[in-house]
Amino acid sequence: MNVKIAKEAGFCFGVKRAMKMAWNELETNGDIYALGPIIHNKQAVSKYEEKGLKTVEIIDSIPNFKNMIIRSHGVGEKVYKDANEKQINVVDTTCPYVKKIHRIVKTYHDKGYEIIVIGDSKHPEVIGINGWCGDCAKIIKTLDDLDSIKFDNSKKHVVVAQTTINLELYNEIISKLDKKLDNIRFNNTICSATKVRQLSAKELSQEVDCMVVVGGKHSSNTQKLVNICRETVETFAIETKQDLNIDKLKEYQLIGITAGASTPDWIIEDVVEFIESI
Ligand code: SF4
Repeated sequence: MNVKIAKEAGFCFGVKRAMKMAWNELETNGDIYALGPIIHNKQAVSKYEEKGLKTVEIIDSIPNFKNMIIRSHGVGEKVYKDANEKQINVVDTTCPYVKKIHRIVKTYHDKGYEIIVIGDSKHPEVIGINGWCGDCAKIIKTLDDLDSIKFDNSKKHVVVAQTTINLELYNEIISKLDKKLDNIRFNNTICSATKVRQLSAKELSQEVDCMVVVGGKHSSNTQKLVNICRETVETFAIETKQDLNIDKLKEYQLIGITAGASTPDWIIEDVVEFIESI
């Protein structure tokens, strides 16, 4: 069975960097806590937990003087203050692109601007961003939110975007905001990693007989890749090689493979080797 892998698949720069930093830290000091799952990938989380990582949801669950990893999504300002009070050693793996958003939000909030975030209010990255303006950002996820959220046109506004949102949606929202508000600044903080992976998956799906998308069931970027590929060919969404339906796969000759931004290389390689061996 022949396999072709998407040009861009799996860990993005920010996740790769964060996972490496966390692993290095575990190698030198096994007693570390992570605030929230380090990545949206069960298998990778288990591998890190076997090495000594403990996942907790709130900083209160971490004893004083311990080590804490902040994941690539980043956190709000209060978490750093709490860590400082508890004398926790922080291993900050926040993606530099997300850090840049924190800086924009803090700077403009301090100058008296109203902060608008285009993104999903439940996503950890957006929760973290909102934490740099005292949790008072107006968060817009859909065009409909523009009607339900109240804006004060006498104030200055600044806009940032969740790094993984869709560019078309961002453009539609900012064009409406521009008409609605007189004094507004826009910062397109969308990261190209997601878009590049999606384009790469689309291109590959046009060359192969079917696609296999490897990634966590709860990873939204993996789900988006699945939807994109399904527009062109039959697509199988799997977390590991164990989820593959071999009989179904045997109906095809050339199999395309891509993976979500939170899928480690070793899981992708495992799937590739397995399919090639069929
Ligand atoms: S998708 Fe972009 S912003 Fe998010 S972690 Fe990866 S590189 Fe950083």
